[in-house]
Amino acid sequence: MTTPLAQDIAALIAAEGPMPLSRYMALCLGHPRHGYYMTRDPLGARGDFTTAPEISQMFGELLGLWAVAQWQAMGSPAAFALVELGPGRGTLMADALRAARLVPDFGAAARIHLVETSPVLRAAQARTLAAYADHVAWHDRMEEVPDGPALVLANEFFDALPIDQYVFHAGYWHERRVGLDDGGRLVLGLDPAPSRAAPAFAAHLPPPAEGAVLEHLESGPARVLSARLNTQGGAALIIDYGHAGGYGDTFQALEQHRFADPLSAPGNADLTAHVDFSALARIGRAAGLRAFGPLEQRAFLARLGLAQRAERLKRDAPAEVRASVDAAARRLAGDGAGEMGRLFKVLVLAHPEIGLPPAFDSAEEWV
Ligand code: SAH
Repeated sequence: MTTPLAQDIAALIAAEGPMPLSRYMALCLGHPRHGYYMTRDPLGARGDFTTAPEISQMFGELLGLWAVAQWQAMGSPAAFALVELGPGRGTLMADALRAARLVPDFGAAARIHLVETSPVLRAAQARTLAAYADHVAWHDRMEEVPDGPALVLANEFFDALPIDQYVFHAGYWHERRVGLDDGGRLVLGLDPAPSRAAPAFAAHLPPPAEGAVLEHLESGPARVLSARLNTQGGAALIIDYGHAGGYGDTFQALEQHRFADPLSAPGNADLTAHVDFSALARIGRAAGLRAFGPLEQRAFLARLGLAQRAERLKRDAPAEVRASVDAAARRLAGDGAGEMGRLFKVLVLAHPEIGLPPAFDSAEEWV
């Protein structure tokens, strides 16, 4: 299938030469007219993928309790920014705020800031969070969130940020680029000149074998977030599918819950990469923060009381509700194929004066 965006991208490549993967991803996801997130709500059974807060209210509720405990660990500031990066339909925030009503001072202190570029999803967030309308502000970027201590939540946000890839060939790293074949179709290729940037990105990894793939996350948003937490105070809870570093090709497209060719329908398929949590931890630590994790989602949710919350929801409920609560808990925290418990990981970046984040052990600090 060719798309309007495929034609734009082909014209750009014809004029300027093959483009880095990060530019291709940024165009596919964020192009103002044709970008994937700009034109649709991709979530849910009829969309392209489902996320933890859409699977069950328990996810957002447990994150809300985590946020309350983290706020208390910060000394219960009387005003703070409760920030969510890429809030989707606003479901996580709504569930978190409902659970946080247990501690009314938390809700009274929170100013809600949603960082979201998609007009379609901003509208969905406004509907979901209508009860909090006076306390919610939207921003295109983290930089626009007003100064002050912040608690930042990011579920499945970093996987949507552009990455670059480098392939190790005959002793050198070469950048992977999107070019055109003889028929004018988009095709992946390698920059013939060795990359000057890649050796530094690979410096902390074992020597690569021929054909190894190195991924590098666009680090701007993580740097901005980390610098802000270091100067203004606060902590970030980052949850995503990913790994703690290494080689491998995780660039993927999802269309209607199936993997697709990332070049086949630019603008119409979700493009993501697995998150390199070691890179996020290093960026946070370089900015003066402490990093904790990555902890598997199954352990994180278990420590926050997933089983107890599921029991509470099942009490006095009809059989089909009990079955769906159990199924949701398995999907979120199971370790089988298609379950999220092991694939998804949790990283906390925190101001050094805060101490241990809730649900983390001192042995889980990244050093
Ligand atoms: N956190 C939600 C949605 C995950 S999908 C959930 O768990 O259900 C990714 C979200 O990030 C969407 O809301 C998308 O519009 C937003 N997004 C993607 N790239 C972004 C960017 N560069 N800046 C801000 N938001 C972005």
